[in-house]
Amino acid sequence: MLLGLNNVEVVYDRVFMAVTGVSLQVPGQGIVALLGANGAGKSTTLKAVSGLLKPERGLVTKGTLTFDGRDVTGLAPAERVRLGIVHVLEGRRVFPHLTPMENLMAATTMHGDRRAAAHRAEEVMERFPRLRQRARSEAGYLSGGEQQMLAIGRALMTAPRLIMLDEPSLGLAPHLVDEIFDTIAHIAAETGMGVLLVEQNADAALAIAAHGYLIENGRVVMSGPAAELRDNPDIRDFYLGGG
Ligand code: ATP
Repeated sequence: MLLGLNNVEVVYDRVFMAVTGVSLQVPGQGIVALLGANGAGKSTTLKAVSGLLKPERGLVTKGTLTFDGRDVTGLAPAERVRLGIVHVLEGRRVFPHLTPMENLMAATTMHGDRRAAAHRAEEVMERFPRLRQRARSEAGYLSGGEQQMLAIGRALMTAPRLIMLDEPSLGLAPHLVDEIFDTIAHIAAETGMGVLLVEQNADAALAIAAHGYLIENGRVVMSGPAAELRDNPDIRDFYLGGG
């Protein structure tokens, strides 16, 4: 397994337990979906993995995180990025006044080699023809779907081994939702990385995932192969709108 969470607990403000002993695993290849309603603890789980909890507010108070067999529970966020863990936060946080290419290059300046970065940015652009078409626009003027693609593209600049996506379909028009999920499926199939996908859009996520976990109130209440979860009557009733 590439990523393992073993009984991880996250407490906010010393009192509120947002994640209550979550255990889950993500292999080095393919997509794992993390599903659940608003406030279930999905984003908090991702932040525990990337280390992006604000230390003065949220703390991992129990459990361990392993990445490629190594205990990363206490590592700084930048060290986790260096190991290959990248987290695309909810809400398409691109630099609005930079072009798509400048956004991609901004992800790598600290790593030095500009020529290698430019080459990598070209590869990322190949994957997102829409971004190439909008090459001269400031990112703030791109559509929601294009900004989401740019946020994913920027994450790919670091050549990650694990990419975590927080609600990539949030707020997008239905045809763009399909396009984003297609793109994620392609990235997972072609680049050989593990994907941990947080979604409220359970049907679309389970359509491209191999495995899924359902969390409620900070704990895993169900997990299994994606096809089984799609057929599960409880999941259908609560998360897929019945049928
Ligand atoms: P959503 O889909 O709405 O983002 P989620 O499943 O990702 O939901 P989290 O954002 O992980 O849920 O939140 C889990 C719980 O922790 C919620 O009750 C939320 O109010 C609380 N919470 C989240 N972030 C903080 C914070 N920085 N400080 C205090 N409580 C927080």
